[in-house]
Amino acid sequence: MAEGTGSDSARRWRDKYLDLLDSHEKLKNSSEQQHDQMRRGLVMVSLLAEGQAAGVDKSLNDLREALKPGANGMNRVMDELERAVKRFEEQNTAQAEVLLGQLADTAEKLSLCPLPKPLLKRIREIRKGAANELLSWSGYINQLQSWIQILGEIATLEGFEEQRSSKWWQRWFKPSDSSDEGDDNNIVSDSDAEHDDHPESEPGFSHIAQEVSETLLNLLSQLVIPDRLNHTALNLQNRLQEGLNWYELVPLLEDTTEFLLECLGNSQTELEQFLQSLDQRLKAIQILVSEASQGQLERKRARLDLDSMVRDQIADIRSVVTGSGDLGELGVSVRDHLTMIVQAMEKYQKEEEEREERLAARLEMLQARLSEMEKEVTESRVAIEEQKRRATHDNLTGLPNRDAYQARLAEELLRRNRYGGSLALVVGDVDHFKRINDNYGHLAGDKVLQLIARSLRKNLRDVDFIARYGGEEFVILMPETNTADAMIAAEKLRAKIENSPFNFKKERVPITMSFGVSEFHALESPDAVFDRADKALYQAKNEGRNRICQG
Ligand code: GH3
Ligand code: MG
Ligand code: MG
Repeated sequence: MAEGTGSDSARRWRDKYLDLLDSHEKLKNSSEQQHDQMRRGLVMVSLLAEGQAAGVDKSLNDLREALKPGANGMNRVMDELERAVKRFEEQNTAQAEVLLGQLADTAEKLSLCPLPKPLLKRIREIRKGAANELLSWSGYINQLQSWIQILGEIATLEGFEEQRSSKWWQRWFKPSDSSDEGDDNNIVSDSDAEHDDHPESEPGFSHIAQEVSETLLNLLSQLVIPDRLNHTALNLQNRLQEGLNWYELVPLLEDTTEFLLECLGNSQTELEQFLQSLDQRLKAIQILVSEASQGQLERKRARLDLDSMVRDQIADIRSVVTGSGDLGELGVSVRDHLTMIVQAMEKYQKEEEEREERLAARLEMLQARLSEMEKEVTESRVAIEEQKRRATHDNLTGLPNRDAYQARLAEELLRRNRYGGSLALVVGDVDHFKRINDNYGHLAGDKVLQLIARSLRKNLRDVDFIARYGGEEFVILMPETNTADAMIAAEKLRAKIENSPFNFKKERVPITMSFGVSEFHALESPDAVFDRADKALYQAKNEGRNRICQG
């Protein structure tokens, strides 16, 4: 058992040893392999690192020699290489600091150049990243590439040189004592800028730029800008207000000047056209004014036309005068035209007043004539009425006359024929009237006739018609009255006349009347009826007077 046990133990230890030997062999192979790889790697790295510094290059060369198989002195080479690399790093840091400072200066100068804004922005960004990038070798490459790119772009900027030397630049930055161009008085000049070949380093530039901006803005604000150039004006103002840099200044000045010339040129042309049309309008007004003095109808239209035209023109002129500012003669010319318009209006106004006065006088005259006519018409009507009255009435008694009786008789007969009814006729005659005339005079006779007429009218119905038939004879028509009623009415009249107190020189004068009464019958002529009445009267006379007979 012991022997077997011992033998097993020895086998186990042998196996263990062989395993270890195997492992060691493998480890040795691996280590030699790694060492070889490391050596080859170092050779490659040394080759890559070469060229940065002469000291380092030499050490790297030594390193590669030492790394050759079978070579010795590896430790010495490594010590040298370590020192060389350390020196290199120190130099590199110092160089980076110097380079950073130089980059800062360059970027500062470039930022003052009239470069496009995007370019200036990139310059600022590159400069900002330089401190970090220069810590590593690859950073140097980045920085170098960036700056090369920037320089390339600057060198190929279009028109850069031309702008710097452009006559516009010369013009705007001419010294103030140079007086060959009067317009320059409006522009702030800086003599320092003129003599400097490198305006980007000109300390007075920002001052100039600000003043130029303000001057141009002020100029723009005083311009009469045509509508179609409003957008350009706004654009220029914005660019000016944003502030100028060296690069933008020259094109902006050129644009502004071009714009000013265009504005002035256009406003002059427009003003000339306006003045021409103004002359035409004034002639039209003068024609209107002269036409306005002719005729009442045209007068009103001319006044309205004149008013609206003059208002329009004054509005136009005001806008031009207000806007033209220092346009000098053009302003004066416009004001002259304004004066002409005012004079035309005053003349028109004066003539208008005169026309109104004439019209008022004419109207007054017409009114007077109209009044006269009215008066004449009234008088005529009165005269006609009087004439008519005289034609139908008796002057002495005021009763209707014989003609009126005939007219009335015709009406009554017509009415009776249409509606029927009775119509009585009474004829009366003053008894012995000749004696009255004879005894008391003709005038007394007239007076008696008047009193008799009044009494007869007074004692008749309204519908009864009485007329003085002639001399001292009266005739009465009694509508709707038959012979019997007419007898009664006539009796009433007879009694009234008989009982009337006719006096002459306080002496009572007896007056009586006789009446003949008849009635119209169908188919009987008026003359026949009258004849019957007249015969009845005659009968009453014959029977002793102061009585009534029926015919
Ligand atoms: P008899 O009773 O017959 O009618 O008698 P008489 O005198 O009235 O008749 P006669 O016809 O002879 O006379 C009428 C007079 O009336 C004659 C005339 O002078 C008078 N006479 C007629 N008209 C007027 C008048 O308007 N005024 C005056 N004063 N007298 C007149
Ligand atoms: Mg008689
Ligand atoms: Mg008589």
